[in-house]
Amino acid sequence: MTSALIGLGGNLGDRRSALRAALAALSTIGRVTDASPVYETAPRHVTDQPAFLNMAAALETALLPLDLLHALKGIERDLGREPGPRFGPRLLDLDILMYGDAVLDLPALRVPHPRIAEREFVLRPLADIAPRRLHPALGRTVAELLAGLGEDQGVVQVATAP
Ligand code: ADP
Ligand code: MG
Repeated sequence: MTSALIGLGGNLGDRRSALRAALAALSTIGRVTDASPVYETAPRHVTDQPAFLNMAAALETALLPLDLLHALKGIERDLGREPGPRFGPRLLDLDILMYGDAVLDLPALRVPHPRIAEREFVLRPLADIAPRRLHPALGRTVAELLAGLGEDQGVVQVATAP
């Protein structure tokens, strides 16, 4: 079993119910051992789109990294499907933020997720559930990466659970 950290986000439709459904789906592919509060990130550059909700979860799973990625893509597809025969916009983004202390650089999968260190909407929820977790490539903890962010990116906690 490996402890994976998963980033969840979405900005379309009923965003909290998408996060709830995603957590329920994650529990079918492993054991969800922790889940962060929910944060909202105001759109900054393109301001005529809905704000994002983001959270992070810890998943104990027996799936190997590429199998986990495919499982997450399947959950995105299942939950993002509009009623009826046509597929609608994706409501949900599921990213593998870390997978144990693995460092992977495959065409389809980079772990840790390459943009962790610059994104407050990733680091803030991650710091709620895994502040001491060491980024295996940068050699700094999640809490240190969060403290090292420069500008305020407008991420605010909006709920303790989705
Ligand atoms: P993004 O998450 O960057 O907004 P997508 O969710 O559409 O965009 O992901 C695009 C591709 O990123 C996926 O099909 C996947 O193969 C690849 N990818 C690379 N590393 C990761 C990772 N750590 N977690 C999730 N997807 C990843
Ligand atoms: Mg993604």
